[in-house]
Formats: sequence, C-alpha cells, structure tokens
Amino acid sequence: MNHSQSSALFARAKTLLPGGVNSPVRAFKSVGGDPFFVARADGAYLHDVDGNAYIDYVGSWGPMIVGHNHPAVRSAVAAAIENGLSFGAPCAAEVTMAEKITSLVPSCEMVRMVNSGTEATLSAIRLARGATGRNKIVKFEGCYHGHGDSFLVKAGSGMLTLGVPTSPGVPAGLSELTLTLPYNDVDAATALFEQHGTDIAGLIIEPVVGNANCIPPREGYLQHLRALCTQYGALLIFDEVMTGFRVALGGAQAHYGITPDLTTFGKIIGGGMPVGAYGGRAELMNQIAPAGPIYQAGTLSGNPVAMAAGLAMLELVSEPGFHERLSARAARLCAGLEEAARQAGVALTTNQVGAMFGLFFTTEKVDTYAQATACDTAAFNRFFHAMLERGVFLAPSAYEAGFISAAHTDEVIEATLAAAREAFKVVAA
Ligand code: PLP
Repeated sequence: MNHSQSSALFARAKTLLPGGVNSPVRAFKSVGGDPFFVARADGAYLHDVDGNAYIDYVGSWGPMIVGHNHPAVRSAVAAAIENGLSFGAPCAAEVTMAEKITSLVPSCEMVRMVNSGTEATLSAIRLARGATGRNKIVKFEGCYHGHGDSFLVKAGSGMLTLGVPTSPGVPAGLSELTLTLPYNDVDAATALFEQHGTDIAGLIIEPVVGNANCIPPREGYLQHLRALCTQYGALLIFDEVMTGFRVALGGAQAHYGITPDLTTFGKIIGGGMPVGAYGGRAELMNQIAPAGPIYQAGTLSGNPVAMAAGLAMLELVSEPGFHERLSARAARLCAGLEEAARQAGVALTTNQVGAMFGLFFTTEKVDTYAQATACDTAAFNRFFHAMLERGVFLAPSAYEAGFISAAHTDEVIEATLAAAREAFKVVAA
C-alpha cells in the first residue's frame, strides 16, 4: 500500500498538533507506525487520502453502528442545516430526543444533553455528589469514562487502592476521592463498601468494559453492585457511552436487567456529531440547574444539527431485529477469527456482547482486567499491522473493543476472515 499522502500529512500534523492528532489513540503509538489519514468513509469502509480502502472495525470509536455516511442520517443533517446551525434557545428536536431516549431507556425519566461522553460522566458525578452530599466516587480498573480529572485514576497493586493520579495535572487532593476496584471481583466491592460505603456518592462502571479490550460482567456481578449501592445509599451510574443502543436497543441495562440510578450516553446518540447525554430518575435530574441547584450548562448543548443526526440514528437502530442481526454477525466474526487463529497455531480467545467484541492473544477466556493486560500485546501489534496491510482496520491498541455495524455484511465478514487467515500466519511466523 502506498501511504505517501498520509505520511506527508502526519509530518505536517506533528509540528502543529500534539503527537500529530486531536485524540491520543489515533497516533498508533501503542501499535507503532504512522496513522493513515481518512478522506471519506462509506458503509463498512474507510478510504484514505492515498486511495486505500479499509474494512473498519473502529466505527469512529462506536457511533457508526449503521455504517459510515448512512443516507438517512446524512439527509436528516442536510435538512436540519437548512434552518441554521445553532440557536442558543430551545428547539423541538431536543424534546423529541429526550422523548426518544426516555422511551428506549426507562431508568432515564429525564435527560440532559451535552456535547461529549466526557461531559456526560463529569456531569453525572457532580450530580451524584450534589444529590448525596458525599464526595467519594468508585471506578474500576481499566474502565475509561473520558478525560475528567476524577476518572484519570487507576488502582495500584492492592485489592482496594485509594486513588493516585495517572496523569500529571490531576491534583492528588482530587484523585484521593476516587476509589478504584478490580472489575468482576465481588468480594473486593463488598469490602470497599464496608470500609467507605457511607462516604460514597456514586459508583460508575462500564457495564461491559470496552476500554480494556472487551470484558463482559460475570453472572450476578452487576446485580451485586446494584445491591451494594442501594444498601449504602450510593448512586449506581452506568456509563453507557459505548454500550448504549449498541449491546441492545435499551443498552447494557436492558441486556442484563439492571436499573441504574444514572446513565451516561454518547457516541451513537449523536449519529457521528459531538453529542453526549446523562439521565436518570426525575427526582435526581430535577436537582440540575435551572430546576435545581447543581450547575451544568452548555453553549452548544442540544444543538439542532446534532439532534437531527442522533434522532435519525436512533430511528435506524430501533428497527426490529437490528441488534440481533449485528450480534449474529459479531458472533460469526469471532468464531471465524478463533478458527483461523487455531489453524495458524496462534493462541486467541474472543469476547462478544451484541455488536461489540474483543480479541485476546492468550489461551484463556478473559474476564478480568489483569488477564486482559497479561495478553500478548506484541502478537496483537503484529496482527494489527498484518490486517491493516490487507485492508482491515482494527482499533490501534490491544486494549480497545471492536465494533460491528449494519454495513458489515456477511461478505464483508468473509473478506475480513480471509485477511485474518493470512495475518495469523504472519503472527505465527
Ligand atoms: N465513557 C466511555 C465508556 C467511553 O468509551 C468514552 C470514550 O471512548 C467516554 C466515556 C468519553 O467520551 P468522549 O470521548 O466522547 O468524551
């Protein structure tokens, strides 16, 4: 593949943008090499500035669940822009969007629109703190909730670890309020609540972890967290920025039958535009300004063009059988990859929940963060590049979930598996 235009753009970008990108993982640092620059996207494919095409399993990191550049989303945006780009005053589409979200996700009786997943999670923990009068929050190793200060904390080696900041610029005084737990460990959660329960404002979790590869909850785990939060009066916050409208129409909470107190959304609800949202019971949401005293605002929040894109997207994913179709294709992809790896003598297991999946270069089924981080990342990196050379774009890190879209037809999956059969030979060599 020729990458001369991408290379020239990346050289220019590195002098102007930190690391040459506007979001770190795009720079390919963890897999090595230079990123390609995208000229256009269509269906299951990305097309780069050098004219190469890639089957895309990143899907703009989640939003593109109906495939890139879907005509219905594009025409909804085209119609909306005829009326102006931003009003700074209420518009009807915001009400329709709130009706749509609250009807699809019954735990959300009210919602507030924001502009990114990060804004949604930051706002949700402010609400949790304001509503409970407590300061501590709990998060999980390997879960990502955007780049807010309170979330840039990971556990140390102990089972229960008080927060230490993992990024310069995060004040220790703030990160100390973030308690971190190992995901899928019932006893650790019980012990943490026994020690700190009455100081905990909220527990935030990716109900299916998608930012440490793809790790589903063990049977009964989310129920246990629900019970702990209820017992100690802490709010259970499901971060469904990734899983919302993806693992099932009603998100992970519908898939696993759990009712969180607050939910955060992003990605799919914006249809590819910068959108996030948070929602919950009316009694909680009515504490947000101007209904209540907890402040949160946004110049572009509820933007009419973004609402139009998101509403068109939500219509498409609401079609009967949509998620079942995607789930079946993701299962087929995972089974095919496991078989291709086995034939090449490469150790590979997969996880899959609905339209999200993960590849683990290991012999064992992975359900903890420790297992996910113990996988053979060098093998993943070789596989990533071997697939890229064959026109398949996986997330450029061993610790990201993969995404299937409605445009990933059986033929596209078969083409992916054909590439994988060759790529695994490279990994094995
Ligand atoms: N929460 C989760 C689960 C995410 O996966 C992400 C982003 O990947 C975020 C929050 C942050 O969203 P954004 O990048 O839109 O700020």
